Amino acid sequence: MIEAKADLHLHSHCSDGLSSISEIVTEAQKIGLNFLSITDHNVINGIPELVAEVDRINQQTGRSLIAVPGVEVTLKGNRKVSDIVVLKPGRPDKEFLNFLNYLCEMRRKLSLAEVITQAGSRNAFTIIVHPGFSPMLTSVGLSEIDELGKTLSPSLLKNVGVEIYNGSARVYSLWNNIREKAVRQVAQKYDLAMFSFSDAHLAQDIGVPCSILSVRSITPKGFAEAFEERKITTQKSPAISPVGWVKLNWNLVKARKRFKKVYPERT
Ligand SMILES: [Zn+2]
Repeated sequence: MIEAKADLHLHSHCSDGLSSISEIVTEAQKIGLNFLSITDHNVINGIPELVAEVDRINQQTGRSLIAVPGVEVTLKGNRKVSDIVVLKPGRPDKEFLNFLNYLCEMRRKLSLAEVITQAGSRNAFTIIVHPGFSPMLTSVGLSEIDELGKTLSPSLLKNVGVEIYNGSARVYSLWNNIREKAVRQVAQKYDLAMFSFSDAHLAQDIGVPCSILSVRSITPKGFAEAFEERKITTQKSPAISPVGWVKLNWNLVKARKRFKKVYPERT
């Protein structure tokens, strides 16, 4: 088995990120990531560039970095607002890109269970990011995960993951520690895949933390197997210094401002 590093939740210039896709891919290669997704909010226009940049860097360095096309969608039901990531490793076909675009367009009308079902039928994965975080971040509640666990079939749940550790959530340190424990409990109860991602808005912050996948090969197939077999090790977010905390907070404020300016209709 090969230990492969994955960061599957982060943002670029295409939404509220502060770095270009090229800067992110360069950083991913520098820190030795094997699976990289750029999950911009409710937009998928960065995916072709991600795939092209990954091809370029692999040719240049002889490495095998795998692009994982995906998106972070803000679902808006009657009262609830929640963030999830939908993704699938490898070169995206037109049908999959159309599906991601449909999720962005329909995000006010679709329930989480509907998204999981539709993603599952395309062999794509749904990851519930920073759950239990309302009202600070738009997120799925823990009781909702419990409900999904009780109602969805095991074959659908196989393609569902939960983000336990989130690098950006370190700005809410003490309360965040309690939340992480509760999220882990509910994920374990239903054997959901558990992950840690950076949710970085700046290229230098990607991979902190990342998830370690035990894969037979660093390929889209290897990724899918590790996900389905739960061969994933989470890394706790490292402690943050007071200066680091101020920097991270400041980046998040800038990111929020940027997103409202660039994509007011997509927030
Ligand atoms: Zn995010």
